[in-house]
Amino acid sequence: MKSEAKTVGFKKGERNIFFHILTACNLQCRHCYINKQQHGNQTLDAKTISDWLNLFYDPLKKSNLIFLGGEPTLHQDLAQCVMGAKEIGYNVTVDTNGYLFHDFLEKTSPEFLDYLSFSLDGPDSEINDPIRGEGVFAVCTENIKKALNKKFKVGVIYTVSKRNIDHLHRMVPLLSDLGVERFFIQVIGLRGESAKPTMVSSAASQNNDWQVSKQQWLDIVPEVAKQGAEAGLHVTYPKVFLDEGEKFECAGVVAENYFIFPNGRVYQCPLCEDYALHTYTIADNKLEVNPNLTEKMLFTLNIEEGCVMNKLLQPDTIEYDSSNRPLHRISCCLLKKEIF
Ligand code: SF4
Ligand code: SF4
Repeated sequence: MKSEAKTVGFKKGERNIFFHILTACNLQCRHCYINKQQHGNQTLDAKTISDWLNLFYDPLKKSNLIFLGGEPTLHQDLAQCVMGAKEIGYNVTVDTNGYLFHDFLEKTSPEFLDYLSFSLDGPDSEINDPIRGEGVFAVCTENIKKALNKKFKVGVIYTVSKRNIDHLHRMVPLLSDLGVERFFIQVIGLRGESAKPTMVSSAASQNNDWQVSKQQWLDIVPEVAKQGAEAGLHVTYPKVFLDEGEKFECAGVVAENYFIFPNGRVYQCPLCEDYALHTYTIADNKLEVNPNLTEKMLFTLNIEEGCVMNKLLQPDTIEYDSSNRPLHRISCCLLKKEIF
């Protein structure tokens, strides 16, 4: 029986901690979403990382932790932090650009690290390297092989944009040949340096040279996901467009996601990260509610277009009919579909 893609609803009793332990990086990807003005340029020390991890751990909830940067393996104590997080009780993932600094694979083990996710934005260096940097494809795929040889569970994240959507299908044979288990397809949006994985554009915003159109997205991504599943991959991709009659839910209201930055800002919505709209601030190792206008005040606004932040930040991603009703509703950017 062929598998169908299913929407993965937000899970009660589960929390996801996206922890940017530094913002430094050895690469300069064209679509990098890190914004040092908003996110800081500190590198948190191992003690602070441990203290902050304890702040967010709830033993009654399944807690998924993703170590992020910048490039998190630039942190010399990352392996120790992974071990510490596992001891606290987290499911631990590290998202890397593939460089694996400080002998990361030698210093940690699959016993402590549940997933190692590599970013690749093309099935070969011709497509990947103009986006991520010269020589990056070769280094990244080499280190994927090393990680698999050492029995780590490996995933690959591909950020879809106009520059690489036509090559997405070629990722399936590449990942199958490598022996990668999971394939995360992201979608580019407009934040940070030039963009960040969020929403796709309508026909109205075709002048942007990164964002893909709704039609391109719907024509290509679900089909490639299906091909991936048929090849044995577990594929996850953003829902983006809600179906007719499908319920809209904002993760900021119904789920527990924390996006932590080294300057102590804690967001609940990744679309807000370019603004000082964070819900919480960590000060003196305490989680404090930000007393100013925050993202939380926007989450409950009920609009026909679906996601409020998408409407505010990327209004041209929505098309309207002649009576000014949206032709489609945009889902929460954190809502995913999966197929395997
Ligand atoms: S997208 Fe990631 S790997 Fe690329 S420059 Fe930004 S932080 Fe570094
Ligand atoms: S992306 Fe939209 S729907 Fe999702 S948390 Fe942010 S504001 Fe809410």
